[in-house]
Amino acid sequence: MSAELAFNRNVDVDYGVAEEVAPQVRRIVANNPGPYTFLGTNTYLVGRGQVAVIDPGPKNDRHLSAIAAATKGERISHILITHSHRDHCDGARPLQAQLGGEVVAYGPTESRRGAGAPGLGEAFVDPAFMPDRKIADGATIKGPGFTLDVLHTPGHAPDHLCFALLGQRTLFTGDHVMGWNTTVIAPPEGNMANFLTSLERLLTRHDKMFLPGHGGRIQTPQRVAKAYLMHRRWREQTILTCLEEGRGSVPRIVARLYGGLDADLKQAAALSVLGHLEHLISRGVVATEGAAGLEGLYSICHPGSSRAP
Ligand SMILES: [Zn+2]
Repeated sequence: MSAELAFNRNVDVDYGVAEEVAPQVRRIVANNPGPYTFLGTNTYLVGRGQVAVIDPGPKNDRHLSAIAAATKGERISHILITHSHRDHCDGARPLQAQLGGEVVAYGPTESRRGAGAPGLGEAFVDPAFMPDRKIADGATIKGPGFTLDVLHTPGHAPDHLCFALLGQRTLFTGDHVMGWNTTVIAPPEGNMANFLTSLERLLTRHDKMFLPGHGGRIQTPQRVAKAYLMHRRWREQTILTCLEEGRGSVPRIVARLYGGLDADLKQAAALSVLGHLEHLISRGVVATEGAAGLEGLYSICHPGSSRAP
């Protein structure tokens, strides 16, 4: 198992231009590049004539104009949201105000959102996001030329949905699986146990392509989903090794595993380590003094048995 997954990051991007990436599917990349968004957020237009927009992207006038130009003479029936992170959903209401369409998403969840998640707080999450219509796992979105099946895939975010384009074996994966990097699982927004279950679910499917929220097309979806799972198992082992070596706090584990990262990304790394620790605690492998958190102290429950599956 290796630390790095092989992604094709040599993707050329023409911001604001609608590019046909699959039959019935056009993609427009928003100009919001960054350490979490790669080159920007992908907005997908599904269908012709009557169009479903998947992830309108950030609130960005140029991106909105690009969507308007690409759909000129067409009607937007749905604005589908993979999850309520601002780089995916903030453009929903401005798009609706200009071009119409019903905003459809999973909707509010029980989990704590936004505030209380240092580094991944309300700058990333819109805890007040409310769609016009809530949909759950198993729902179907239909247009004249397309049918999308809805999969609830919590993990990266509690409200995360993937959309399967029927007849094309194509899955819109949002941030559940991305085309350029591993996805961030940052508690309390992220939940590692749910993420792994949602990943395993993808292995039972027979998609031939993933269209992610960031990065290019994934043409070997099963392989990438498996690599994501392997990466997490490997990361968990490296954290257990840290604990065995007596590095029992999140900062010490982060310093050991992510020495060279800049401060901004270290915060995400710390939350990601916490996500793994929470998962290990829930399985009785690791114990903590008091509540699990960034300041907690962690140890292996039964030293010597941590290599058990
Ligand atoms: Zn996200």
